[in-house]
Amino acid sequence: MRREGINAVLMQGGHPIAFESRKPLPHERLYSIYDKEMLAIMHALAKFRQYLVGNRFRVRTNHNSLRFFLEQRQLQERQQKWISKIQAYDFDIEYAKGKNNVVADALSRRPATLSLMSLDTDWRAQLLVEYSKDRFACGVLDGQVADDRYRVVDEIIYYRDRIFLTEGSQLKKKILRAAHDSPLAGHQGFTKTYRAIRERFSWKGFKEDVLQHIRECDVCQRNKGEMNHPAGLLQPLPILEGKWECISMDFITGLPMVQGKDCIFVVVDRLTKYAHFFAISAHYIAA
Ligand SMILES: [Zn+2]
Repeated sequence: MRREGINAVLMQGGHPIAFESRKPLPHERLYSIYDKEMLAIMHALAKFRQYLVGNRFRVRTNHNSLRFFLEQRQLQERQQKWISKIQAYDFDIEYAKGKNNVVADALSRRPATLSLMSLDTDWRAQLLVEYSKDRFACGVLDGQVADDRYRVVDEIIYYRDRIFLTEGSQLKKKILRAAHDSPLAGHQGFTKTYRAIRERFSWKGFKEDVLQHIRECDVCQRNKGEMNHPAGLLQPLPILEGKWECISMDFITGLPMVQGKDCIFVVVDRLTKYAHFFAISAHYIAA
């Protein structure tokens, strides 16, 4: 269970097959960390019941104290209820350290970082190819660059502990997209996108690339914020006090000529809406 919510993953043969997540209720937030973990397990058991009953399975959690739950002697009422429910299942509890419990770790990670993580599988190979074509990168790899901000660990170049990308790297776009366009990144503004990338990556002109990427982002373009000044309060017309104090005038033109008149001059009193209509000829208007 993470601070943000109760998360559980059902796995089979090392592959996740179902996810479950919910927010803790207000009173559940007050549970001890120990009980929170148990709550998460109870929730997972209930949700995945149809897969679990009748089978022996393992519950992996990254909270050590849970292993001892079942061996505990003095139980509170809540815990007793849990224990009685648990009887229906046949399982062992296994403590997985953060590193092994990849799912729990991934769920606790901030979304932006998580989406960058998904690059991990193929970017390494591409990165190494790009290094081999780049003169500067080759220099660093061969130890010819006397700049201690660059380090090489496991063939990857780090600049100030961030993964270094070559100038023409194709990975830049991938990273920018992961950090900005992916559903998890959600088209955040410059600062958040910039920081998400800066956490792990570095390349020359990286700040400008982030700026440009956001400027050219189609989705962001379509959802531009209102840049005008707010319109301010409405300015209603003054309320009139007497009739014929304020009038409106208009002409109805383009009528067929009747007895030398082809136009109606309309005068309306704005307060009473009383109207006068005058038949006139259009050349009066022009005059
Ligand atoms: Zn965008």
